[in-house]
Amino acid sequence: MKRTKIVATIGPATDSKEKLKKLIKAGMNVARINFSHGDQKSNGKLIKYIKELRKELKTPIGIMADLQGPRIRTLVEQDIKVEKGETILVGDTSFGSQNPKSKFQISNKIQNLKSKNNTKSKIQNPKYFLLDWPGIIKNIKIKNEILIEDGLIKLKVIGKEKDFLKAEAINGGVIKNHKGVNIPDTNLKSGAVTKKDLDDLEFALLQDVDFIALSFVSNAKEIINIKNKIGKILGRKNQLPQVVAKIERKEAIKNISEIIKATDAIMVARGDLGIEMNESKVVIYQKEIIAKCLRSATPVIVATQMLNSMIENPRPTRAEVGDVSNAVIDHTDAVMLSGETANGKYPIQAVETMTEIIRNTEKSPFDNLEHGFLGDKKNSASAAIAHSAHELLKDTASKAIAVASVSGFTARMISRHRPESLIFVMTNNEKTHQQLSLIWGVQSFVLPDCKTMDELIDRSMETLKKEKMVKIGDKLIVVMGRPHKTKEHMSLVKVEEVR
Ligand code: PEP
Repeated sequence: MKRTKIVATIGPATDSKEKLKKLIKAGMNVARINFSHGDQKSNGKLIKYIKELRKELKTPIGIMADLQGPRIRTLVEQDIKVEKGETILVGDTSFGSQNPKSKFQISNKIQNLKSKNNTKSKIQNPKYFLLDWPGIIKNIKIKNEILIEDGLIKLKVIGKEKDFLKAEAINGGVIKNHKGVNIPDTNLKSGAVTKKDLDDLEFALLQDVDFIALSFVSNAKEIINIKNKIGKILGRKNQLPQVVAKIERKEAIKNISEIIKATDAIMVARGDLGIEMNESKVVIYQKEIIAKCLRSATPVIVATQMLNSMIENPRPTRAEVGDVSNAVIDHTDAVMLSGETANGKYPIQAVETMTEIIRNTEKSPFDNLEHGFLGDKKNSASAAIAHSAHELLKDTASKAIAVASVSGFTARMISRHRPESLIFVMTNNEKTHQQLSLIWGVQSFVLPDCKTMDELIDRSMETLKKEKMVKIGDKLIVVMGRPHKTKEHMSLVKVEEVR
């Protein structure tokens, strides 16, 4: 069984129940629904299918609603060819009718801008395009870069007027309509949640998803705000979806420690991160973020372009295979597929390929955690008990660790040691069961409430035998707090033989 988990993005290539079933059988643990694409109706249908399948297949599959966030896009009347060194004018949608959608509306808006500014720009027949973010140009400074379509086109701001920016093309190309734009050093005053996100959030909460991913996070306050919003909308304090902070902005790298403290999980969103920062630094951030997450037992996902060539081809490049392998060696909880499973030609093969790479890497000694990596001061009882459980596992050559966990905290504390065995987690909480799908090495089971520790141990053993996870004579390390009903607190670790 593989221990590093797979998050797969669902899209047109995988939007039927049959395809989703194949993805699960191939090794998908968490299904990511990207709200940048699809409408609520189609996304709702996907969520319904996954819920039906996880019941049918009796396996937890986490459902992650990924909110689009403040994604800025281009608006052009028609494709604009830009030559290196050329100056073009950039406006936004802060005047006239907001958020133009049709070509006619875009055209009107650009005409409006032209008539206002023709004389000021001092450029003969200038080319114009708009950013679909009202007021954004106010926040852009001279010398800022504007990167279009994954940075294929790079502009540098060289002048600023009231309603437009003058920008020089550092590398040329064709600016097309509705392409993604990154402006690395800009402070997006609106924060990470837009009106569309709020609408999608309410919808996702209504569908009772397990994870909410927040795009373009800058600081911990944004995480705290969304958690408060989720609590308010749902009107409860437990069985809440966990928040995944997508790390894709310079600001987030600066504030990474406070973000990790505030969030439930982290996604290293390498696509946008590679545009906002220098690509050559992405792998360094990946390693640093994973190490910080391990120390605080925060689940972490490495995302984007992992098997990118499989969007078109049935086999990945060797470099891509190496990338997945190296993320496993970095000790990530999960690796993620985006376009490969959402709109690629070989979505099922992409998950199968990832599963195979994970299995082979985990068999090797290279993914073993180096002694001292966690930098643990063992200043909490839970950290010390989890550490002892791991030591006992090694010293007694036991088969696995069996953990009772209500919220998933105990499971994460054990998992962060990356033991050379599976971690069986018994929980009485259905939401925790689904959310543990993201945690490295964890295989979870739902048990009813137990009154005593002995009952909890007996029921756990029975379940593991019934599921053929263990057999008579196997040794297990058992880690428990008080029985399920009471507040989680690790207090017991023992070696138990299966009878
Ligand atoms: C990324 O940029 O790497 C990412 C995962 O974000 P998205 O796919 O939402 O653009």
